[in-house]
Amino acid sequence: MSAIDDRATWHSRAQALKPRTQAFIDGRYRDADSGETFECVNPATGALLARVASCGAADVDAAVASARRAFEAGHWSRMAPAARKRVLRRFAELLMQHRDELALTETLDMGKPIADSLAVDIPAAARCIEWYAEAIDKVYDEVAPTAHQTVALVTREPVGVVGAIVPWNFPLLMASWKLGPALATGNSVVLKPSEKSPLTALRVAGLAIEAGLPEGVLNVVPGFGHTAGEPLALHMDVDCIAFTGSTRIGRRMLEYSGRSNMKRVWLECGGKSPNIVLADAPDLERAAQAAALGIFFNQGEMCSAASRLLAQESILEPLVERIVEIGRGMAPGDPLDPATRVGALVDRAQLDTVMGYIEAGRGEGARIRLGGERVLEETGGCFVEPTVFDRVRGDMKIAREEIFGPVLSVIGFRDEAQALALANDTMYGLVSAVWSRDIGTAHRVAKSLRAGTVYVNCYDADDITVPFGGFKQSGNGRDKSLHALDKYTELKTTWIDLGT
Ligand code: NAD
Ligand code: MN
Repeated sequence: MSAIDDRATWHSRAQALKPRTQAFIDGRYRDADSGETFECVNPATGALLARVASCGAADVDAAVASARRAFEAGHWSRMAPAARKRVLRRFAELLMQHRDELALTETLDMGKPIADSLAVDIPAAARCIEWYAEAIDKVYDEVAPTAHQTVALVTREPVGVVGAIVPWNFPLLMASWKLGPALATGNSVVLKPSEKSPLTALRVAGLAIEAGLPEGVLNVVPGFGHTAGEPLALHMDVDCIAFTGSTRIGRRMLEYSGRSNMKRVWLECGGKSPNIVLADAPDLERAAQAAALGIFFNQGEMCSAASRLLAQESILEPLVERIVEIGRGMAPGDPLDPATRVGALVDRAQLDTVMGYIEAGRGEGARIRLGGERVLEETGGCFVEPTVFDRVRGDMKIAREEIFGPVLSVIGFRDEAQALALANDTMYGLVSAVWSRDIGTAHRVAKSLRAGTVYVNCYDADDITVPFGGFKQSGNGRDKSLHALDKYTELKTTWIDLGT
């Protein structure tokens, strides 16, 4: 088991790693049309990892044309679901067979602990592909209950060419949430990974072909948002954009659609999620553990981060005390050390953003209870201590904006009504949580929270079988579960007159 390999082993593997750096178009690796590249830097050291093809409009055109040709040819789009299942299951198996290499690539590219890449990112990505593979020959279409002399079929068809634009915080996993349902339903995909973490997507494109996916069904165009993402989202021959990223850029996807061909736009955007701990929480220790992991796991670079802790005044102090203790035990370290629980932030820009928010919190009068500093600067890496602010007010910047770093904002409340008002006072609505041992209180609060997910007496529950997505400006549509199939299929009604 690789999880027990030591730090030296991972470092020597890192030395030997030769990542794929070319775009993947029409079933083969190739340079960008312009020949341009961009630098991929290891955020834990500042060292250059790779120079990656920087795709532009010409590459996107080629990828979309290839995806369209493959779709029209029908080798995938009209393949029997049971046959697609076999290919995608093989793809999932190949992801697991390459788990060490993919986990290492993810860790080097974006700074997360190797233990997490191994235990979470890669297995969850494989599980996602496998789950949609297994599901797709078990979903039935409908016959509508129309009058006796007619038959009306309601069938699902793939939408065609899907443009998937994904972020850097769980690079392969977020890509898999699109690839699983989009490919299982027979679409062709052009995937645009983040310029901050393009390497695993490039690697797995080759594995998909090895698994038997026909050429052109999956293309990967690494590059920047404005040079590769924008031409993809504006493309007249793309039928659907499946986006995960910030609310600011998600908004642009809607504009691109309006300015081009009204392509379907599905958005999984940001969050500023409230974690409400009432005085009658069943277990304050568990609440503290969940609150700490909810904001420090993955360096806080999580759309679902428990970034606002709303604590009832009578238990606020012991709860914060305990979270601070747990956070102190999570000091950032070398991501290639299997013992590390908090790694490096993804890059210098994100480091500056997070430090800017910490400054803002101090400036607005919140109190630092833990952390607040950049650390391990001598490594050349982007490390920030787990940070806890208390005495935060609902109108402060650190209570309103998504920080996307290991920074917790603690806000006190008197009663349930005030907690709910604070919780819902946000443009976001991704996830939320309530801790109470009273079943009535828990249900009442859960019903009033405007968010796509409500955790009750937990924060970490996760499974591919449940839908994930946001209310309000956290987005629309849902990833995961069978509901995600809705994003990648059109409903067709076929009326048949049986005569009289
Ligand atoms: P981002 O919005 O900056 O970038 C997301 C993707 O969009 C990247 O691939 C980027 O290159 C691309 N992009 C940027 N500008 C573009 C443009 N003008 N046109 C086309 N594409 C463009 O987000 P990020 O910093 O990569 O990721 C962090 C954000 O993602 C956070 O807000 C986080 O909450 C969100 N997120 C949401 C979920 C979810 O499921 N709701 C999951 C993970 C991350
Ligand atoms: Mn990187």
